[in-house]
Amino acid sequence: MASEANETVTLSLAEIRQLAEAVLTRAGMAATGSAAIADLVMMSERDGIASHGLRMLPAYAKSFASGYANPDPNPQVSRTAPAVLRGDGDNGYYQILRAMAEPDLIALAKDTGIAAFAAANIHHLGALRFDTEPFAEAGLVALSVVNSLSMVVPHGGARPAFGTNPMSFAAPRPGAAPIVWDQAASMVALMDVRLAAAEGRQLSYPAGLDADGAPSTDPEAILETGQLLPFGAHKGSAIAMMVEILGAALAGGVLAVDNEERLAHGGINIKGGATLIVLDPARFGQDRFGETITRIVGEIEGNGAARVPGDGRLARRAAADRDGVPVSAALLSDLKA
Ligand code: NDP
Repeated sequence: MASEANETVTLSLAEIRQLAEAVLTRAGMAATGSAAIADLVMMSERDGIASHGLRMLPAYAKSFASGYANPDPNPQVSRTAPAVLRGDGDNGYYQILRAMAEPDLIALAKDTGIAAFAAANIHHLGALRFDTEPFAEAGLVALSVVNSLSMVVPHGGARPAFGTNPMSFAAPRPGAAPIVWDQAASMVALMDVRLAAAEGRQLSYPAGLDADGAPSTDPEAILETGQLLPFGAHKGSAIAMMVEILGAALAGGVLAVDNEERLAHGGINIKGGATLIVLDPARFGQDRFGETITRIVGEIEGNGAARVPGDGRLARRAAADRDGVPVSAALLSDLKA
C-alpha cells in the first residue's frame, strides 16, 4: 500500500498547466514567461518527467522572491555571424528567449544548412527534449546542450567539476513522430535523486558518492555529499566536459563550479549557458537521409527488448492525454497553499 507521503491525485493536463501558470503569476512572473514555463511544466508532467514538472515550481517561485531571477526580463537575440544567433536572457528563463529565436533558426538552417544559437544570462532550462523537438517537427536535425551546477565528479576525481550537463538530440523520422531523446551526463539527473529522496526509495544503481567516497544508491547520502557520478565512467566524463565547454566557454554561461551563488538564494536554479545547433538535411546533398533513418530505426525495433531512445515519451503522452497524470498530493497541497 502506498504510504501517505506517496499518495497521488490525478490531474488533467489542462489543470496542471492552469495550476503552474497560477503559481508563477502569483510569484510575480510576467505573462509571456509564465505562459512559456507553464507549458514546460505541463509537457514535463505529460512526458513522465515528474522531476522537472510541478515539483520545480517552488524553486522557480523562490528564484523570483529572492531576487535571483528576473520575473519580467527584456531578453535580446542578436546575430553575431551569418548563421549564428546569440541570446541574452536578461536573467530570466531560457524558454522566453528561445521562443524568440526559433523562427529565425529554422529560416537560417533552411537557408544555409546550419544555424546555431548560444544563450546566456538565463535560468534553468528544464527537460531538454522540448528544446530540440520542434526543429525535428520542422524536418530539421537538432542538438542541444546546457551546462549546469557543479555536482559531477570527473572520472577518477575527488570533487565535482561539472554540472549534470544534459543534452538532447532530435531528428525527423519518415511517417512517424520525430526521434527525440534527452539525458543528463550524470548517471541520474539531480532532480531525480531529489525525487527518490522525497519518495523514500533507493536509486536503481550507484549514481553518486557517499561520505566515505564510495558509490551509493542512497539518495540522501548522495545529496549530503553533492557528488554525482558521470554515466559510463570516463566516457560520460568526457561528454560532461564537452557540454561544459559548449555551455560555459562558447555560450558564456556560468561555469558549473562558479554556480554557487544560487545557494544564497535557497534556489536550485542554474545559470548555465545553452548551445543549440540546427541542421537541414536537405542541404547536405544526401538524398537517402529519411530512408537511412528508417533503416536505423528498423535495426533497433524488433530487436529483443531494445527500443528507439525517446520513444517511451509517445506512449506516456497518449496515456496522459487520455487519463491525466498522477501528482503527489503533498506537492499539490503545497502548491495550492
Ligand atoms: P533518463 O535516463 O530518464 O532518460 C534518458 C533518455 O533515454 C530519454 O530520452 C528516455 O526517453 C530514453 N530511455 C529511457 N529508457 C530507455 C530504454 N529502455 N531504451 C531506450 N531509451 C530509453 O534521463 P535523465 O535522468 O538523464 O534526465 C532526465 C531529464 O532531466 C531529461 O529530460 C533531461 O533533459 C533533464 N535534465 C535537465 C537538466 C538541466 O540542467 N536543465 C540537468 C539534467 C537533466 P523515453 O523514456 O521517453 O524513451
